[in-house]
Amino acid sequence: MQQIVLASGNKGKLTEFDQMLAQFDIEVLPQNQFNVPEVAETGTTFIENAIIKARHAAEITGKAAIADDSGLEVDALQGAPGIYSARYGGEGASEQDNYLKLLAALANKTQRKARFQCVLVYMRHAKDPTPIVCQAAWEGTIGLSPQGEQGHGYDPIFIPQGFDISAAELSSEQKNQLSHRGLALTLLVGAMKAKGIIK
Ligand code: IMP
Repeated sequence: MQQIVLASGNKGKLTEFDQMLAQFDIEVLPQNQFNVPEVAETGTTFIENAIIKARHAAEITGKAAIADDSGLEVDALQGAPGIYSARYGGEGASEQDNYLKLLAALANKTQRKARFQCVLVYMRHAKDPTPIVCQAAWEGTIGLSPQGEQGHGYDPIFIPQGFDISAAELSSEQKNQLSHRGLALTLLVGAMKAKGIIK
């Protein structure tokens, strides 16, 4: 069985990747199992940050690595919070602080288009000059007030295209089928097949 390190300590993501790749005889292991410390995300794009994380995990473990980077892009705010989504409200801000700050920034704005972005990177090794890079988006708008209890992050204020409820009111199964991460993961599996990494 081939092993791939996931450059994240998030248990939900680990389960999602492991479930998707197990059918191809791949075991996904979390980077903290190899004592990989967090790396500074110094890029200015999702792509750069995902590459930084995958390269770092591959370098320390000597194994192939997958990393993801995601966030919310709001048109009326020139793409903010973007790569700063997790820290939009400042150091130590809660997820609620983050989305309340975003609602305040959009007060009185009628243009409320937004999308979640997800970039996934696969590197065969730390010096891989041709990493696989997959990107997917989930389109929607920012609601006027938070709604729903499911999900995480900005879900309570994100109204997916085609719905009149928030992402926090969808079941996790529905969200996995529609979301930026689910779609990027499907693209990654396709690209790994095309490169002969999985059959
Ligand atoms: P990460 O790179 O996946 O850890 O995500 C960065 C930040 O983007 C998270 O802390 C959330 O604030 C936001 N984010 C990414 N994906 C989602 C989502 O599916 N729902 C809500 N917020 C998300």
